[in-house]
Amino acid sequence: MKKIAILGSTGSIGTQTLEVVRNNRDIEVEGLAAGENIGLLEEQIREFRPKIAAVWSKEKAARLRANIRDTSTKVVSGMDGLIEVSATGGTEMLVTAIVGMIGIRPTIEAMKAGKNIALANKETLVTAGHLIMPLAREHGVSILPVDSEHSAIFQSMQGSHGAVRKILLTASGGPFRGRKKEELQNIRVEDALCHPNWKMGRKVTIDSSTMVNKGLEVMEAKWLFGIDVDDIQVVVQPQSVVHSMVEYIDGAVIAQLGTPDMKLPIQYALYYPERRYLPGERLDFWKLHTLEFEKPDLDTFYGLRLAYEAGRAGGTMPTVFNAANELAVRLFLERRIRYPEIVEEIERCMRDHKNVANPTLEEILCAERETYDRINSRR
Ligand code: NDP
Repeated sequence: MKKIAILGSTGSIGTQTLEVVRNNRDIEVEGLAAGENIGLLEEQIREFRPKIAAVWSKEKAARLRANIRDTSTKVVSGMDGLIEVSATGGTEMLVTAIVGMIGIRPTIEAMKAGKNIALANKETLVTAGHLIMPLAREHGVSILPVDSEHSAIFQSMQGSHGAVRKILLTASGGPFRGRKKEELQNIRVEDALCHPNWKMGRKVTIDSSTMVNKGLEVMEAKWLFGIDVDDIQVVVQPQSVVHSMVEYIDGAVIAQLGTPDMKLPIQYALYYPERRYLPGERLDFWKLHTLEFEKPDLDTFYGLRLAYEAGRAGGTMPTVFNAANELAVRLFLERRIRYPEIVEEIERCMRDHKNVANPTLEEILCAERETYDRINSRR
């Protein structure tokens, strides 16, 4: 039995990870962690019988503890609880399916405890890649990508022997592909939450609509594959069939294709290097008439351009990019700012930030707090 723990088990990636576990019978879930949804977490505890479960707030943890007193699952809370789920026990792998920079510390502690990481939480590498990648080497742990694009790149790189020239990172273009900047002024929350191809959590769905998600993925790929951001080319592929590609030094391009189903990259990360049967729809090339490819519109979706700037600058700039986006998306979802203000806030925060090279974890968290304060002081 392979033993895993999942941070963010009640979310989109978390629940799909548990579906993969359900379909295979050789994974034991030792730990689960969620933010607020103690109803679903209780169902998961009763089904998977983990040794430990974490909930963010103390109050909800106390309620959950009372609700499941007939089970043997220990309930913990807060950051200490997330770390306990991540780092203790006999788990071999931590699935980081939590949303936001809150995932950094538990991931670090899990690696120090020798756990492999199935990484969905892109914010960890975006903001702290320079700390995470050396730490993985130091502790001899693997970081396996769960993000579909990064999994596709990883799959296309098997047997690459260092001969990769560039990465072709595909993007669906989101619900507003083809529109111009002026046409994005009055976008409502419900419009931005309608992704044409993928069903994901709310934050990443908004990020996909602004293409900020693609920017975060560029920075994530830089660390995962040790490649310069300028050797990562974003290609819009509206059907979301080509999940990403790799160009080799001899000009060969290798891609991974499939229907949009996150269970494939999740399962690939859980069982790497083994491939397992996965039920679900298959690509039918007789029905698939066209595959389109386009250049992204960096004037309209200039959040992607800013991400390249942050990725090139390094230091605390990616943290500022990410934190400004995290807070601005939350404010947009609460209908407190307009849609275009999301990327405007990122641009303003990056412009006002004095970059710190090679930051420590404390400096990263300080840059995050300062960015939040900067945005809040303007409201
Ligand atoms: P969701 O919003 O669907 O889920 C987020 C999860 O994190 C929930 O389980 C939530 O718990 C939990 N969570 C939030 N805050 C806390 C906290 N303070 N303490 C503990 N748990 C917390 O997000 P997604 O699954 O869509 O995304 C997760 C990560 O994966 C993101 O970084 C995203 O960018 C990345 N990703 C997602 C993809 C997708 O298809 N969804 C694709 C590729 C990457 P609760 O609901 O109980 O509050």
